[in-house]
Amino acid sequence: MSATIRTIPRHTVPDAAAEAIHVEDLHKKFGSLHVLKGVSLSARDGDVVAVIGGSGSGKSTLLRCINCLENPTSGVIRVNGEEIRLKPDGSGSTVPADRKQIERIRSRLGMVFQSFNLWSHMTLIENVIEVPVRVLGLKREVAIVEAEKLLARVGLLEKRDVYPAFLSGGQQQRGAIARALAVQPRVMLFDEPTSSLDPELIGEVLGVIGGLAREGRTMILVTHEMKFAREVATHVVFLHEGRVEEEGPPNAIFGSPKSERLQQFIRRVT
Ligand code: ADP
Ligand code: MG
Repeated sequence: MSATIRTIPRHTVPDAAAEAIHVEDLHKKFGSLHVLKGVSLSARDGDVVAVIGGSGSGKSTLLRCINCLENPTSGVIRVNGEEIRLKPDGSGSTVPADRKQIERIRSRLGMVFQSFNLWSHMTLIENVIEVPVRVLGLKREVAIVEAEKLLARVGLLEKRDVYPAFLSGGQQQRGAIARALAVQPRVMLFDEPTSSLDPELIGEVLGVIGGLAREGRTMILVTHEMKFAREVATHVVFLHEGRVEEEGPPNAIFGSPKSERLQQFIRRVT
């Protein structure tokens, strides 16, 4: 099924409902620092959108705006077809108009950050069932059955009762992926999920993410792993100083980059 979705050329999908994420002319300022300068991007069901770019180009800020962890200065963000309602904050930026909406949107986005973000006072399985039980209202027994499937899938079922401190970095990140999947997100957001890992642990985490991508799971993936991005992405967006400098299919972006800045970036990181 996923293969069918992913072979549809992007420009032939006119249906806005097929867009899991839609970002339009997004601006974000921190005081006088203008970090995002009119970014537009979308992820349709089945898309794996890789976001690449130098340090400080605004990649994390973009994901944090999508996940409502930052308030955009201006612009439009739709998640699952629902526009995040913002109101002026009186100083030229915005704040959420509806806290409940933010909670709802965030509870159904699967986000995995760079640093390991499992809750340290809970075992692995408790981490995975926490949001399904407390926020989404799933019965504990049902959540446990689902969580065990997810842990098996990331290769961690035997660690279900272990606390995060006793897991390797790679295991913690795989656990964080299982936890993110537990909310049955339509979209997964990854922010450099392997960049805090020792080199020998990167492969096991990329293996899990690659498996999700091959199943056709929709994701926005910020990564420095260019070879991986080229393999799994359906679309690549290159950010430079808060703007989309170039975007396109992975073979075009990595094989025949047009802009001088992208050429330089690729020479630098590969
Ligand atoms: P990237 O993820 O591409 O490395 P970021 O989105 O983290 O870039 O940061 C972009 C710019 O925004 C950087 O100059 C960073 O210092 C700045 N920035 C990010 N978050 C904040 C914040 N909360 N307050 C002030 N400046 C910030
Ligand atoms: Mg970042």
